[in-house]
Amino acid sequence: MSGRMSRLMLIALFVAQATAMTAAQTASLPQVVVLATGGTIAGAAASDVQAGYTSGKVGVEQLLAAVPQAKKLASLRGEQISNIGSQDMNDEVWLKLANRVNELAAMPDVAGIVITHGTDTIEETAYFLNLVVKSRKPVVMTAAMRPSTALSADGPLNFYNAVAVAANKESGGRGVLVVVNDWIHGASSLTKTSTTAVQTFLSPIWGLIGTVAYGEIEFFRGPVGKHTTESEFSVSGLTTLPRVDIIMAYENMDGALINAAASAGAKGIVIAGVGNGNMTASALEALSGQAKKGVVAVRASRVATGRVGRNVEVEDDKLGLVASMGLNPQKARVLLRLALTKTTDLKQIQRYFDDY
Ligand code: ASP
Repeated sequence: MSGRMSRLMLIALFVAQATAMTAAQTASLPQVVVLATGGTIAGAAASDVQAGYTSGKVGVEQLLAAVPQAKKLASLRGEQISNIGSQDMNDEVWLKLANRVNELAAMPDVAGIVITHGTDTIEETAYFLNLVVKSRKPVVMTAAMRPSTALSADGPLNFYNAVAVAANKESGGRGVLVVVNDWIHGASSLTKTSTTAVQTFLSPIWGLIGTVAYGEIEFFRGPVGKHTTESEFSVSGLTTLPRVDIIMAYENMDGALINAAASAGAKGIVIAGVGNGNMTASALEALSGQAKKGVVAVRASRVATGRVGRNVEVEDDKLGLVASMGLNPQKARVLLRLALTKTTDLKQIQRYFDDY
């Protein structure tokens, strides 16, 4: 054999060995499925320094290809659930997503699930899934404030960290988690606080579940409220969700919007009240009037943090109202929609707000 031939054979052997090792290593990695729904993390702009962009332009395969480092953390495969800005999130996508998460989580070879989503409504989708996913496996949502084409795009590292959290067994049993900008939030606590800043998500009062920096995870605690396998709610057999509207309270408010919501078919109304879930006397009169007719009315608050408790400045017992406790209006709406799939009994619905 010529020297050149034996060198070539050696190289071929080396390449074969290297490939075999990679395949073996890949096989031993936990399997994580990535469900993409759109959002800025999949957004694109014409230039890397412009504010205007379109959400949901980049597909799941491109998303995966953009972060090859994540393939060292988990064996990844992707599915496109939708490709929309999360301002357009809707019940059809929610039900499709929840059913798919439940299917995947039941597969023995799937270790965890990552969901990419827009930041605008991620807190609502996370909380919805937190109540209807029937698994203790990690379900981790992530997002980005800057589109994939931007200077200093935040999506790739958020995605990498989300995969690290989803691939880690310690993440299981903590409800649906949201990983953005190095922080791990619980679905019941996180809320978007800035329209443009990368550090937009906070978990006021209840605090973070943990942190994750370049894949290094530190957990502090579990989430607040019942979730996933402890939850009484389910999407199985559901094709629609009851209509619940949110109405913000303000100076000189009358009952017109409350009555209009009921006329439009709302089965429930959440008031984003002033202070401790308060509103003007005329708004309260309209609300209790609708409550007497069977619309379930929940008092939440437009204030950024704090609980709305029962019978503080409003006589909930007398007026037939429900207090949102720690949930902000957008999450109170999610819980009320699911509650209405089971009951209209006010005591029972208040219990849900106490427990979830
Ligand atoms: N409007 C975008 C969305 O929610 C914003 C984002 O993802 O940051 O899809």
